[in-house]
Amino acid sequence: MFKAELIERAAQFRSAHDDPTRKLESCPALVLNADYTPLSYYPLSLWPWQTAIKAIFLERVDVVASYDRQVHSPSLDMKIPSVIALRQYVKPSEFPAFTRFNLFLRDRFSCQYCGSQSHLTFDHVIPRRLGGKTTWENISTACAPCNMKKGGRTPQQANMQLQYDPIRPTSWQLQQQGKSFPPNYLHETWRDWLYWDIELEE
Ligand SMILES: [Zn+2]
Repeated sequence: MFKAELIERAAQFRSAHDDPTRKLESCPALVLNADYTPLSYYPLSLWPWQTAIKAIFLERVDVVASYDRQVHSPSLDMKIPSVIALRQYVKPSEFPAFTRFNLFLRDRFSCQYCGSQSHLTFDHVIPRRLGGKTTWENISTACAPCNMKKGGRTPQQANMQLQYDPIRPTSWQLQQQGKSFPPNYLHETWRDWLYWDIELEE
């Protein structure tokens, strides 16, 4: 990740300090599994405040941290939770769904031939006309120009080199990729639970 981008994100981090005028809609709760790891990194597992509070009353989650904002009702005042943890462990599925989004994420949103990050499309590595299937193992992210250049040929025929051979990733591998793409907004109470591998600058 570029340094400028990190600094920009850190700035957003700072400006995200609790603001009493913050709208309730922008007070989502980060949801952790029972082992206190995020349920999902990408997209980040976030629940709207209403869902989080309902889960607290149903005793399905524990509150780990809260916003300064409170909600009031005739019977109670309650701080809006910013981090909650499930009481019951949810076992993640071993393999992620084969979706366009997950495929881009596997390939880190970059063309597997030239590294470009714009005009991304999907390339059948073995072309369909040669019997290539639409599977994790035969689809790679390619920018439109590379896709056009390759046409209905194999990489060898087109003399184009794939950066990585396409594989079916495990959910764990995909989550690892997701850590490289932190969301634009991170509440300060979330940082203890996220991104050990990314130093946000203060
Ligand atoms: Zn390309």
